[in-house]
Amino acid sequence: MIQTIGVLTSGGDAPGMNAAIRAVVRAGCANGLRVMGIQRGFQGLIDGEIKELTARDVSDTLQRGGTFLQSARCKAFMEEAGIVRAIEVARVFGIDAVVVIGGDGSFRGARDMSRLGMTAVGIPGTIDNDINCTEYTIGYDTALNTAMDAIDKIRDTISSHQRCSIVEVMGRGAGHIALSLSIANGAEAVIVPEKDFSIDEDVIKPIFACRNRGKKHYIIILAEGVGKAEEIKAAIHEKTGIEARISVLGYIQRGGSPTARDRMEASRMGAHAVEILLRGCDSRIVALQNGEITDIPIEEALNMKKSISESDLALTRILST
Ligand code: ATP
Repeated sequence: MIQTIGVLTSGGDAPGMNAAIRAVVRAGCANGLRVMGIQRGFQGLIDGEIKELTARDVSDTLQRGGTFLQSARCKAFMEEAGIVRAIEVARVFGIDAVVVIGGDGSFRGARDMSRLGMTAVGIPGTIDNDINCTEYTIGYDTALNTAMDAIDKIRDTISSHQRCSIVEVMGRGAGHIALSLSIANGAEAVIVPEKDFSIDEDVIKPIFACRNRGKKHYIIILAEGVGKAEEIKAAIHEKTGIEARISVLGYIQRGGSPTARDRMEASRMGAHAVEILLRGCDSRIVALQNGEITDIPIEEALNMKKSISESDLALTRILST
């Protein structure tokens, strides 16, 4: 019988993580569980940076960006010895199960903890929305809205000066943010790491086509995992004579107060993680499927890369004409 649960945030921070922690704490307390907050992800677990969180301790966190438990990347967790040590420390604090809020790397850590004897469940918290089997990850909506506003502002300036802007957005090896923004911002072209691309076909040709129709500005959205911003900028100048500027949105996209969608999904997912533990399940993550909150084995979420939407790619091309 689980009596005490730990909660931690791991990997890149995402807006809405605080709302998820709050939901875990309050749903846990409402079900008679003791909840321990673990600082700095897996590293804080190894270092014993753990203290009890009551329902009142999470007041005034729902609307805040970042994670008040802080996050970290922990090398020691890549080795079995580090995970065994973390489990020993968790036991010292009376922890029977850990809720891990993070991305796929964090879920590998959670899966390995559960293989070594500590019950662990995950909540998808990453702006990248790149976890297989869930339609949504906490932070995605806020990141999209923040980046969309920034690109709207860039657009005002480039259309006043008849320029081209190459906007690099986050997503490491995933192009979901870039593709959604290409629709939301009406980009002329989008380049994602999941698809091979040719500068001539996918950038230069669309620019010429737009120019022939009288367009005066061009927005190219580039997922950071592709790299090549400088190469694309040089090719645009050389082949079209248009001056291109590179804007890297960077951390701006990760920060800020979560949107209503992120607060709501994070709250539902946090409460569901507690339900999974009360059911006696292990090594599962919370997922959104067909609009409903459910849960799936961690292994299922990890064993395939989430594919990019072909219909959204086609839509970007159609709508930029
Ligand atoms: P995001 O993609 O949003 O940054 P993430 O959870 O994928 O989130 P990572 O840096 O990949 O971020 O992983 C976070 C932590 O999870 C790592 O620092 C490490 O402690 C742990 N981790 C990652 N991969 C593994 C693995 N294969 N085995 C055990 N633990 C892992």
